[in-house]
Amino acid sequence: MLFVNKSTVILFDKLKKTMKNVRISVLSFLVMLSFIGLSQEVTKIKVNHIFAPLPYAYNALEKSIDKETMEIHYDRHHRAYYNNFLKAIEGTDMEYLTLNQLFTGISKYPVAVKNNAGGYFNHEFFWNSMSPNGGTPSTKLTEAINASFGSMEEFKKQFEKAAATRFGSGWAWLCVDNSGKLFVYSTANQDNPLMDIAEQKGTPILTLDVWEHAYYLRYQNKRAGYIAAFWDVVNWEEVNKRFELTD
Ligand code: MN
Repeated sequence: MLFVNKSTVILFDKLKKTMKNVRISVLSFLVMLSFIGLSQEVTKIKVNHIFAPLPYAYNALEKSIDKETMEIHYDRHHRAYYNNFLKAIEGTDMEYLTLNQLFTGISKYPVAVKNNAGGYFNHEFFWNSMSPNGGTPSTKLTEAINASFGSMEEFKKQFEKAAATRFGSGWAWLCVDNSGKLFVYSTANQDNPLMDIAEQKGTPILTLDVWEHAYYLRYQNKRAGYIAAFWDVVNWEEVNKRFELTD
């Protein structure tokens, strides 16, 4: 017969209590985990991509870009990219990603997302790169341009060359790299320097659309004329602000 003394009973009792406490702890831990999971589910919000109005009238940039081109470009081309972008991400996890998140992982996503998210962002960025009264480059930006290119003239020359020599359709960009240095870059189709597929990645601060639809009505095959006229409508105040933000 097993002899059970009093202290063994107390010990057994204590053990039972401890086990009960452990069970309660495990249970509350599980409840906590599911609550965190649940709250993450609840706070997962779809990104609201807006179709912003053109920041000026269709004829505001007439000295460089005609009204009809602006109208077709904004209201048909840009709108189509926007609509097709929303269609391409509809019902997928991509609806929860910002444009920047999409671009930094763009190689993983369908080509339709790359083309239309790119088209939507690049045009929005382009409209805001221009203004009928865009001011002048700030001292800080001018210093950075001089440090990176030697002079404003040399920067313009490089930017014009990137825009003129882009074969087929694409964009010319002025970007800031990780070390704060400026560089000129050009992308094909609707690619941009924020995408993980770009050979040279950076934060864009100025862009020019060199697709034929951007200039053909007035300039026909003379892309160089369109590029030269672009400088008259650059929104330097916006470019200055974008440059400040990269600091
Ligand atoms: Mn365009």
